Amino acid sequence: MEISELQSILRRTYQERDAGRGQDATFRWMAEEVGELARALRTGDRAELVHEFGDVLAWLTSLATLAGVELEESAARYADGCPKCGRIPCGCEPR
Ligand SMILES: [Zn+2]
Repeated sequence: MEISELQSILRRTYQERDAGRGQDATFRWMAEEVGELARALRTGDRAELVHEFGDVLAWLTSLATLAGVELEESAARYADGCPKCGRIPCGCEPR
């Protein structure tokens, strides 16, 4: 599935709810899902990881839609490798 397709499906599925909740509350939900992902990374099996990565991706996508950002455009930053050094693999100092 393309990122733009996912964003389109989630827009059609949740746009009304997401708009009603608003950007700040949607951000807080996404943060809660990131917390669940952190727990799954510590203690979860692969099925839980797949589930939690999906939820974080969905909330991130909803948030991008609310903010008027197409994630395809965001992903394009990395289309040619590292956006800082422009290399694949990245040649920047590790952080
Ligand atoms: Zn780099």
